[in-house]
Amino acid sequence: MMLCMKVLRKKMRPDWDEYFIGIAKAVSARATCLRRKYGAVITKDNIIVSTGYNGAPAGMKDCLEVGKCTRKELQIPHGERYELCHSVHAEANAIIRASVDELRGATIYIAGSDSSERECVSEPCMMCKRMILNARIAKVVYSDGRNGFKVIDPKKWLKKRV
Ligand SMILES: [Zn+2]
Ligand SMILES: [Zn+2]
Repeated sequence: MMLCMKVLRKKMRPDWDEYFIGIAKAVSARATCLRRKYGAVITKDNIIVSTGYNGAPAGMKDCLEVGKCTRKELQIPHGERYELCHSVHAEANAIIRASVDELRGATIYIAGSDSSERECVSEPCMMCKRMILNARIAKVVYSDGRNGFKVIDPKKWLKKRV
């Protein structure tokens, strides 16, 4: 009985990674791209230091306002032709809103969904990976598109020269 209670309690209460990936999902609702909506949360010692979602640069019309995303229209595959969507990525927006000290050794959580609100694999693109490395972020947690998530040490990307 005691064991049952313990297992049950563990299931009812999310751990830190589950908690922050859930917040990243909530943040993604603010995204302005028609193709995909991503949210990012940066934490340091389990305290949120920054959040971001993908959207057009300040003062520029976003995909929602224009009513189209060229990347979506042309069905550009994942990882290609980012110049066709005007969005600043969620990871980039979260990084530019944090200080150098906050970013060093921090964790970034990324989660997103596509236009039919299906959760998608939220591995950062090449440009965001480079930015995460230079920000000295130490841990990356992203949605695996199946209601779970992957935990990565960004130093692993160095070998592939992203
Ligand atoms: Zn777009
Ligand atoms: Zn990116």
